[in-house]
Amino acid sequence: MTADNKLDWTPSSTAKTRHGINPATEEALPEVPVATQEDVDKAVAAARRAFPAWGKTSWDERENLLNKLADAVEANADGFKDILVKETGKAISTVEMEFASTPRFMRALASLRVKDQVLVDDDEHTATLRHMPLGVGAAIVPWNWPLLLATAKLASGLITGNCVIVKPSPFTPYSNLKLVELAAGIFPPGVVQALSGGDDLGPMLTEHDGIDKVSFTGSSFTGKKVMASCARTLKRVTLELGGNDVAIVCDDADLAKTVPVVGTMCFLGSGQICMDVKRVYVHESIYDKFKAALIEFSKHIKMGDPNDAGTTVGPIQNEMQYGKVREMYEAIKAEGWSAIVGGQTDARDQFPKGFFMQPTIIDNPPENSRIVQEEPFGPIVPLLKWSNEEDVLKRANASKMGLGGSVWTKDLERGQRLASQLESGSSWVNCHFKLDPRVPFGGAKWSGLGRELGTTGLEGWLEPQSLWVSKL
Ligand code: NAD
Repeated sequence: MTADNKLDWTPSSTAKTRHGINPATEEALPEVPVATQEDVDKAVAAARRAFPAWGKTSWDERENLLNKLADAVEANADGFKDILVKETGKAISTVEMEFASTPRFMRALASLRVKDQVLVDDDEHTATLRHMPLGVGAAIVPWNWPLLLATAKLASGLITGNCVIVKPSPFTPYSNLKLVELAAGIFPPGVVQALSGGDDLGPMLTEHDGIDKVSFTGSSFTGKKVMASCARTLKRVTLELGGNDVAIVCDDADLAKTVPVVGTMCFLGSGQICMDVKRVYVHESIYDKFKAALIEFSKHIKMGDPNDAGTTVGPIQNEMQYGKVREMYEAIKAEGWSAIVGGQTDARDQFPKGFFMQPTIIDNPPENSRIVQEEPFGPIVPLLKWSNEEDVLKRANASKMGLGGSVWTKDLERGQRLASQLESGSSWVNCHFKLDPRVPFGGAKWSGLGRELGTTGLEGWLEPQSLWVSKL
């Protein structure tokens, strides 16, 4: 820690280095290592050396070390928050959310247990379902919630007795490197490592013969490549991918409660959260009322300096994503969509530096338009009309994506009936983006494979073994 309570940036020790860009200022951030194939081989070899002893430690021992790591993360709170604001560009209020969840998720995951089960016990045999750690896992992390997503993977891999190599996004390596630096001082050598680098580093890990499991979070496009690459060595794979989440607002919804939450979930993290609301279906009988309330709500969204406590929306995280989001904004004019909030193709007049895009709401575009069918991953969302339940469910489920979806109604029975028909890994009634380390999380269809969190998530880091014993 430096005197002003900011975390030091780790100096590099590789021949080549690279750096992130602060998306709010476009300033270069400090250099970080660029790992080569040789570095990957060395890290995998170190993990393989560590695994035989680490895999035999008790769950309690591993929980104890994870709790120490959670303490160390908490002790470095200011430094981590500073890093997260600089590397992601997220508003400090959103960074506070991510940071607060980090030690909490770590401790909660560490407290879970996957227990052996005796499935047969008769006069002749016992059959016990046991669970063995897989070995060495790679945790591949995206740029939007780097600290919490790396933590969920790291804690799940470690508590189950695996060694873990964290690979941050090239856009946001800093918080992940710091997390692993703290962990390396707590866990035995080789158990926790990090490798940072460019776009070629992920494939070096997914291809590697010495890696047994890949836990990947990122786009569906890359997720398919990861799965194909892992097939060669039959690695275990967990994929947490993109989403196109719906919010279905019923005619009896409590608008005073619904509008602020749905409005927040459209724009939280500038629309760059996999579980942000990306399509809002509103019953036609309350459409105009809902629309007016959402326009009013959006007046309170403040875009600007992420360090400012009053800011709710920061910039797009990187220039490449900024380009993609701008394309979607350009389609507003080209396609003749009606923007009832925002709509400008950029915010350069207000913010000459930084990748800022105005929060934007499109009024009832055609169902087959890009803004309805694609995940923009920016602060732009369509408001759509529905009139009957069967039709709205069909439209909600017409997507290849199936991450999450919510239903908003005062009638909880109706809410559950509709929410349970959504083809998504998470379904919510009168809430959205509810996450808990005890509850499995993941996507249906092209939104993912397998689950993270909860004991179901831990099982993804374990090989089941049926142990038969004959009593004869
Ligand atoms: P991305 O797929 O471009 O990159 C994700 C990670 O994969 C990065 O670390 C990247 O370096 C690495 N990578 C890139 N090519 C690779 C390859 N061929 N093999 C192995 N690794 C490779 O995703 P992104 O742009 O960083 O993140 C945005 C996407 O992530 C969005 O689609 C979003 O919805 C999704 N996401 C999903 C969840 C979830 O839990 N379901 C959470 C956050 C983000």
